[in-house]
Amino acid sequence: MRLTVLGKYGPFPKPLGGTSSYLLQSGETAILLDAGECSFTRLSSIIAPESLSAIVITHFHHDHTADLGVYSYYFERLYNSGKINKFPLLVCPDDVSAAAKIYRSSPFFDVKAVNDGDTVAIGKASARFFRMNHPVATLGVKISDGVKVFAYTGDTNLSENLVPLAKNCDLLLVDGCFTDKDWTDKKPHLSVGKVCDLCLKLGVKGIVSHINPSYDEREIAEEINSSGADCLIAEEFGIYEI
Ligand SMILES: [Zn+2]
Ligand SMILES: [Zn+2]
Repeated sequence: MRLTVLGKYGPFPKPLGGTSSYLLQSGETAILLDAGECSFTRLSSIIAPESLSAIVITHFHHDHTADLGVYSYYFERLYNSGKINKFPLLVCPDDVSAAAKIYRSSPFFDVKAVNDGDTVAIGKASARFFRMNHPVATLGVKISDGVKVFAYTGDTNLSENLVPLAKNCDLLLVDGCFTDKDWTDKKPHLSVGKVCDLCLKLGVKGIVSHINPSYDEREIAEEINSSGADCLIAEEFGIYEI
């Protein structure tokens, strides 16, 4: 499997950056994980969006869905011109909020709503969903292609589901939006230190993402280095072989 980081910031990007969006590929299977700001232009510089096996949305916050409407316009145009004969699979939480309805009611996606514990076949991969701890319905996802296992938390603070989500994965992409000094258990995100604790406890390799644009990344790097965890800070356009 291969992960490409399209956008790594949240809740808004640094200048010329993008918000949460990642491309996971295994052979012909290509999964877009979240569709934040800059997702469309960056994905389409790598693969044609119509070659995606699915778009997986972890939750309906704007920094994860900003480009989703743009994708719908693109697929509408392709369909109307006969270039595609079906719409792409959009896998998302079974959320009935107004923000979710905008996309769940779109005729230009083949929408599949999922809940905690559900498993969905996507191309040759299998995706299992875990409820996370965030102010809106949010699902982390664990994806296996039969050889390797990848996990992505979406946005979350501490949750009893973090261990089953992250356990035995070959790479964990994880929300590390705060440094420890700014974190409490009431916040909507984990801290870098909490991410490192999780990776050390489970012996998994982590990529810290959902980078808060207000931080100097040296602060984040120091928190990782002082923990001894096998973690990296996500880099936009960075490619990570799993
Ligand atoms: Zn976010
Ligand atoms: Zn969020």
